[in-house]
Amino acid sequence: MNTEIQNLLATLTLEQKANLSSGADFWTLPGIAELDLPSIMVTDGPHGLRKQAGGSDHIGLQDSVPATCFPTASGMAASWNLSLVREVGVALGREARRENVSVLLGPGLNIKRNPLGGRNFEYFSEDPLLSGALSVAWINGVQSQGVGTSAKHYAVNNHEAGRMVVDAIVDQRTLREIYLSGFEAVVKQAQPWTIMCAYNKLNGSYLSENITLLNHILREQWHYQGLVMTDWGATHNRVAGINAGLNLEMPSSGMLNTQKIIDAVNIGALSLEELDTSVAKVLELILKSRDKSEPASDFSFEHHHGLAKRAAAEACVLLHNDSDFLPLNPAETIAVIGALAADTRYQGSGSSQIIPTQLEQPLECITDLVSKRGGQVHYAQGYSLSGQASEADRAQALVLAQKADKVVVFVGLTPEYESEGFDRSHLNLPAAQLQLLAALLPVHHKIVVVLQNGAPVTLRDIDAVPSILEAYLGGQAGASALADILFGELNPSGKLAETFPCDISDSPNYNWFPGETRQSQYRESIWVGYRYFNTTGQKVAFPFGHGLSYTQFSYSQLRVGEGSSGELSLDENTELAVRLRVKNEGTRAGGEIVQLYVGQANSSVHRPSKELKAFDKVFLEPGQEAEICLTLNHRSFAFWHCDSDTWRVESDQYTVSIGASIEDIRLEQSLSITTAHALGARDTALATYYAPQHRNFDEVSFVTLLGHAIPTAIPTRPYQMNSTLFEVQDSWIGRLLLKQVKKTIDAMVGESSDKDRIVIEAIASEMPLRVMVANSQGKLSEKTMSRLIHAMNRHWLKCLRGSAADSH
Ligand code: BGC
Repeated sequence: MNTEIQNLLATLTLEQKANLSSGADFWTLPGIAELDLPSIMVTDGPHGLRKQAGGSDHIGLQDSVPATCFPTASGMAASWNLSLVREVGVALGREARRENVSVLLGPGLNIKRNPLGGRNFEYFSEDPLLSGALSVAWINGVQSQGVGTSAKHYAVNNHEAGRMVVDAIVDQRTLREIYLSGFEAVVKQAQPWTIMCAYNKLNGSYLSENITLLNHILREQWHYQGLVMTDWGATHNRVAGINAGLNLEMPSSGMLNTQKIIDAVNIGALSLEELDTSVAKVLELILKSRDKSEPASDFSFEHHHGLAKRAAAEACVLLHNDSDFLPLNPAETIAVIGALAADTRYQGSGSSQIIPTQLEQPLECITDLVSKRGGQVHYAQGYSLSGQASEADRAQALVLAQKADKVVVFVGLTPEYESEGFDRSHLNLPAAQLQLLAALLPVHHKIVVVLQNGAPVTLRDIDAVPSILEAYLGGQAGASALADILFGELNPSGKLAETFPCDISDSPNYNWFPGETRQSQYRESIWVGYRYFNTTGQKVAFPFGHGLSYTQFSYSQLRVGEGSSGELSLDENTELAVRLRVKNEGTRAGGEIVQLYVGQANSSVHRPSKELKAFDKVFLEPGQEAEICLTLNHRSFAFWHCDSDTWRVESDQYTVSIGASIEDIRLEQSLSITTAHALGARDTALATYYAPQHRNFDEVSFVTLLGHAIPTAIPTRPYQMNSTLFEVQDSWIGRLLLKQVKKTIDAMVGESSDKDRIVIEAIASEMPLRVMVANSQGKLSEKTMSRLIHAMNRHWLKCLRGSAADSH
């Protein structure tokens, strides 16, 4: 703690310290002018700045200042391009700095546990190494501009159903290897100024007061230096939070929690030293924001638009391309079909939704490009974005398609299908779009399907077409990037950072995702995404790491450890260089993403056949060849060893595989590794986990894996402070409360569209009653809410006495 902080702590009163532990309002921290402590602002991210100038909300309802809209995280991840992601981070940092925003609330690096997760569009990958590396690049970019970041949502926040109350039950090894590794990487390699704790519980304790995650792991083991804030409304027990290492409550809860801190100190339940340690982090953040060492750099929105286009181009993944169907010839007659071509879906819905500085439309960009090259474009909407299917629309589309040389069909997901606040219920495209594709069957041979969505969709209805281009949610310049790719001005170079399953029922956690409102058992353990699909050989539509190009690359000369004879003695300091050569064998310049996977032959614990351990992206001119050098270390071969609470590598045979995707391995070398640890014996009680193909992750095995019984889920009844508005709809008081919340939202946003309404209502109904109290800023006291809860439970005596309702 530096002297300035020490002096400030000596000057501040208890009330001021308690006050500094909570937001001043929705987006700012309190300042103290006489102590030269400015009130600093934090706002969403992550794919554009959402600074609200007027009214405040956290679901993007109120307007924000225009800002550059970059592709959302799933698209950025498909670029696998760390320097590009860093550049986007720099641009975001500059825009935030110009608007005097001190912290950008991102990146979102939770793992895509299942493709149905509502916020998957906002998260990078199903793989922790990739998520971690992209997040490090993003954070370093933003923070290079003197603007802080907030790595979120720490941790195990993988679905929306019951997101504010659900208890994620996860075994220790899975936690470390899958759900925490990305956060560990950002803390160790980028030290984000802040970390945002998740809403949910983990193994019985809310993340906002989870001492294991906030204190033992984050600070003691990873040496995190920055501040931990809550997600918006995630505070459960404020004083327990301070004890656990939570520094800042966001947004303000009025005096509710501030007073609790003051009372706790006064009665000796919280020591002043503990409060000081916590407040010191808030002061550090305020001072860091006040005394920025980096000069503000100038930028133009036009330049950022260009960067958004580069990012969007690299986000595109060419999934399928029979006989080089793409690129199209711009001198031909092109039918563009699908309402999304004229009204593009370019960003996700919820708290990350921003107002772009400008917005391109695919139809305009394609028409522009084609008309300059002598071709013609004709458009038919084919379906309406309101979901209405019209036979006339389909008939018109078919007539147009029949006359055209080539047909570009735009399909994708609209906010009712994919948003923060609720999970998806299936992977299908909207029915009206599927009907259109069915109507276009006679011309499928000349169709390229362009997908605009933030997460996988089922492609079985369109796999007969020669080309499929996944454009993700490409941001404000996605349309021109797309047009350039369709007509060969640019070469696609993205690869999937997630698996596209053939069917949702193929998912490893199909039976347990998302689980119950109050408890989600992570029964599948480490068998998430490609770890499961590749190990079991379960067929997928498109595998992790897959993406085609208009050129071809060859791989050669793999060397694992210079001069090594295939034997290696490994300890914690070992670094192993892996070299290979990649050549562009085609006639177009292009980018290739080289992936390095490691697998252990006979591990004592259940391990995937391959795990991503390094990657690189290289751009090559036709005929050009490059040497790729990747580095492995102790961690690349390790698993989390629960008994010793450390990363362990067993002496065994390992395979280093180099692939163009997880299923397209081009080079392989095996390696005999000797370490201080002999190969352990397998635990027969976990047999089912060694045979993931059966997905028989039964309760007994899960309990063995956890090392304890599965906790009893908190029952829905009797109602309590953490009952959600959805849960209390059985009672008339509950219905009245929800009505009141909706009325408040209506007053904020006026007449909202049906799509907005679906999102708003979903988010509102997930809200626990305690958050209603906090949001009311003192208008609804805990005592009144307790009385209402007792009344809903028909506990009349407690209701009369006004005794505190339970909160668990
Ligand atoms: C979201 C966060 C977001 C915050 C502020 C929450 O509901 O989960 O990701 O940063 O709102 O808008």
